[in-house]
Amino acid sequence: MTDLFREQSASPSSDCPPCPGEPVAERIAAREAKIGENFIVRRAVPSKARRMVGAWCFLDHAGPAEYAAGKGLNVGPHPHIGLQTFTWMLDGEVLHRDSLGYEQIIRPGQVNLMTAGRGIVHSEESVSDAPGRLHAAQLWIALPEAERHREPGFHHYPDLPVMEQDGVVITLLAGSAMGRTSPAEVFSPLVGMDLRADAPAQTTIPLEPRFEHALLSLRGTVTAAGEVFAPGTLLYLGTGRTHLAVELSEASQALVIGGQPFGEDILLWWNFVARSAEEIHQATEDWNAGRRFGSVDGTPLPRIPAPDTGGMTFKQPARRT
Ligand code: MN
Repeated sequence: MTDLFREQSASPSSDCPPCPGEPVAERIAAREAKIGENFIVRRAVPSKARRMVGAWCFLDHAGPAEYAAGKGLNVGPHPHIGLQTFTWMLDGEVLHRDSLGYEQIIRPGQVNLMTAGRGIVHSEESVSDAPGRLHAAQLWIALPEAERHREPGFHHYPDLPVMEQDGVVITLLAGSAMGRTSPAEVFSPLVGMDLRADAPAQTTIPLEPRFEHALLSLRGTVTAAGEVFAPGTLLYLGTGRTHLAVELSEASQALVIGGQPFGEDILLWWNFVARSAEEIHQATEDWNAGRRFGSVDGTPLPRIPAPDTGGMTFKQPARRT
């Protein structure tokens, strides 16, 4: 997906509090935007309180929504640099197309992972004009300096490790946990897990204490670290936790993300993750001039122009020491 919030200000990761280096429990309200008639997107990351959780630098929770005929998702071709887009499908189907020639429908329980590296273009649209449902999480993972200029790539993961514990179905989306490793190709130490319960359930999941973690409810009520929350709230947990007790209400689902504190300041603007305003200006100019990024074949949707960087408010922040 693309930046539907039309933010004009760049988001530098250095302008938020540093990783606390200990367990905390901070409630962070996601920002909400309504797309179309009843299509809700909640942006949980970045926020002023937390720009990143490990290398995870963006988290949009879309839906759950039901849409009428012809009112489905239609995000035309747009570029990315410096990141991976990680799509976790909960309900509905979306067709991904990209400038490498990949065409892939993603269905519930599957992950699409696109590595932008030095640059890629993709479109995302509903599979047909029929009425349908959409419920998904889209995350971005910042690529570390040594990997961010790499060749672009795309992977579809139809089968991920699934474990069951205390009535909770745990899907390992990325990284390693509980003796299993996700096939998703990532470039820094991180983890992603989906927890799902049909009936009320309580379980304890192991965490890597060097990682910072956060928890988001995707549906239903979730209780962890003394906090009770529902969709729309991200619970940031800090580092230093070896495990986390989680309580899930009936028909609930939660997303756990974590990773080694990133250690590099990034600059996020529109669909780009970079290190400097100059790189952002260059990527914007190149995209709007039709250079560098290539094109997506087969989509009926028009390409999305980058907003004018003239409106980009950005001050180079003082580096943390
Ligand atoms: Mn996108």
